[in-house]
Amino acid sequence: MSLPGAPFLARQGRELRLDGCSLDALAREFGTPLYVYSQRAMLDAVAAYQGALAQRRHLLCYAVKANPSLGVLQTFARSGCGFDIVSAGELERVLAVGVDPARVVFSGVGKTRAEMQRALQVGVRCFNVESRPELELLSRVATDSGRLARVSLRVNPDVDAGTHPYISTGLKDNKFGIAHHQALDSYRRAAALPGLDVVGIDCHIGSQITQIEPYLDALDRLLELVEAIEREGIPIAHLDLGGGLGIQYADEVPPPADALVTQLLRRIDARGHGHRELLLEPGRSLVGNAGVLLTEVLYLKRGDAVHGSAKNFCIVDAAMNDLMRPALYQAWMGIEACVLRDSKSLVWDVVGPVCESGDWLGRERELALQQGDMLAVLSAGAYAMSMASNYNSRTRAAEVMLVNGRPVLIREREQFKDLMMREQLLSC
Ligand SMILES: *Cc1c(COP(=O)(O)O)cnc(C)c1O
Repeated sequence: MSLPGAPFLARQGRELRLDGCSLDALAREFGTPLYVYSQRAMLDAVAAYQGALAQRRHLLCYAVKANPSLGVLQTFARSGCGFDIVSAGELERVLAVGVDPARVVFSGVGKTRAEMQRALQVGVRCFNVESRPELELLSRVATDSGRLARVSLRVNPDVDAGTHPYISTGLKDNKFGIAHHQALDSYRRAAALPGLDVVGIDCHIGSQITQIEPYLDALDRLLELVEAIEREGIPIAHLDLGGGLGIQYADEVPPPADALVTQLLRRIDARGHGHRELLLEPGRSLVGNAGVLLTEVLYLKRGDAVHGSAKNFCIVDAAMNDLMRPALYQAWMGIEACVLRDSKSLVWDVVGPVCESGDWLGRERELALQQGDMLAVLSAGAYAMSMASNYNSRTRAAEVMLVNGRPVLIREREQFKDLMMREQLLSC
């Protein structure tokens, strides 16, 4: 089976290389834990979407929350992407890299008044509105500031994306979006509100989706609605089908992005909606397989089947605060030795130093290891560094991007002074 991230990630002899660079050498040069991303892999992922969308009016909006580092945002901005944001903080990040706000859509179920004001002030392209009360507030905020908010309603199509419950968002019991049966009425209300300009419709049914059918089901539901909405005289200029396309962690075989897009376009055309602009909001599928997390083996703790447990623990210097997916979703992520050894392999639980039993990166992994070895956690470009925290007062990792095969530090490792920067000693 090929490595997730191939062909950019490959083993050459004993050495695991990303974009031709030795991961062992990068870990020793920059220290661990260390995130390493291949810019070429990101550009390749964008090109798959853009190639299939080339003949269509479209905006490919990278979902910032997957990996919001400035170097990553710059990479996508230069390759012609727009952006999907879910907070004012993400808005400031895209502005910091010089993105035109007219290429930014603002999603999220809990936008605050201050976030709306800022997004209106800079002129984002569209608000993806997720509830009736949000519609009312956005109209008021817009009117108060003398502006018009362009809106699309995020409709919950009630389709099962067949993914993990925590990352499935298109079922009727999820907190996301406006229920399908309330959508038409909500559009009537949106069209009547003075501060709003209805421009589109959107959905986002979940994440790590590995089949095309749920997308087509959601699209069908959305197009029915569009027809009903336009019959009432409310024009819908764009369709936004969200993100969610999966990547390879273990043996998943998600459809390639161009195959997904081609099938979506075919269905859109067949139903007579080919004149509409198409927006997509991929996150994971643009960055997930482009990155790895490098970590050093600190201690090997062998089990003792006679007197206790037979479990072997490999304690590494990366932890749940660096990479939360295993603790949060019981996610399985590939773990590879950066340099293969000849010695006998054993089965290890790869765990971090944080004081939580949930702090593991991988369970029951067969690896030949010695203290001081470097390991790579694969498919760690998305929802990895972006979810990192300072739990246990651990400094957050550094990030390196391989640009044309050369390492560029895009985020320094945090220092202890950063940990305490906003705090004050009691003065009494
Ligand atoms: C998270 C999110 C995305 C991106 O999802 P991926 O699974 O990373 O592609 C797109 N749109 C919205 C509204 C999101 O919340």
